[in-house]
Amino acid sequence: MKCKICNNESKEIFSAEIINKHNISYYFCPNCNFLQTEDPYWLDEAYKSAIGKADTGILRRNQLFAKRSSAIISHFFDANNKFLDFAGGYGIFVRMMRDIGFDFYWGDPYAQNLFAKEFEHNKQYNYELITAFECFEHFTDPINQIQKMLELSENIIFSTRTFQGSPPKPTDWWYYSLDSGQHISFYSITTLKYLAEKFKMHLNSDNKAFHMLSKKKINNLWFGAILKMSHVGFSRIFNYRLKSRTETDHELLSKRIGGN
Ligand SMILES: [Zn+2]
Repeated sequence: MKCKICNNESKEIFSAEIINKHNISYYFCPNCNFLQTEDPYWLDEAYKSAIGKADTGILRRNQLFAKRSSAIISHFFDANNKFLDFAGGYGIFVRMMRDIGFDFYWGDPYAQNLFAKEFEHNKQYNYELITAFECFEHFTDPINQIQKMLELSENIIFSTRTFQGSPPKPTDWWYYSLDSGQHISFYSITTLKYLAEKFKMHLNSDNKAFHMLSKKKINNLWFGAILKMSHVGFSRIFNYRLKSRTETDHELLSKRIGGN
């Protein structure tokens, strides 16, 4: 099987049972260290609901991503520009970022926008940066998907769990998400470096799950330090120039759709 990232020959390294019914194979690329499942024929079953029924971490994750993204954006980018959450899900993240003061918009072909109505993606917008949380591992064609993102902005903050060296065994890594069958693409740091080079971008990463591909060259120690600070209450320092949009959004929505 060809590697979806670098087109080298990928080798079957193990198999596992997903959605409690299909036994599937995983292929590892010795060149870019990308791990992919066999051609995923089970996705219709896996996506009966766009967001997993057992996903108790959804709010905690959004909070964490909001803190981290606010810190990175305020520090390295123009916080007054427009932003897009590329895999916006229910719109929780967009609402949180607008509450902080960022002009964030929602996009997602697979989910229903519940919390960020009227703040949907518009092709005419230029985005300073886009966010893509927990979606790289769902990609059936990562190169194509990343290209699409790069047409929207030249800076991408994203999250996906990475592994170092050889991929962990199916029993040793919860991120395979065998019950849901939705995770089909797994990246090592080597893979992300390969992607950065391919698209002539710079990679910043916490070397675990939070990454950025951008045209800006940012020292990775500095990137890591800002992420750490975002957790210990420095968020006010980063956001001091922004005014929350909670009230102005409410006024706007009341006028447009008669919300109350
Ligand atoms: Zn490869």
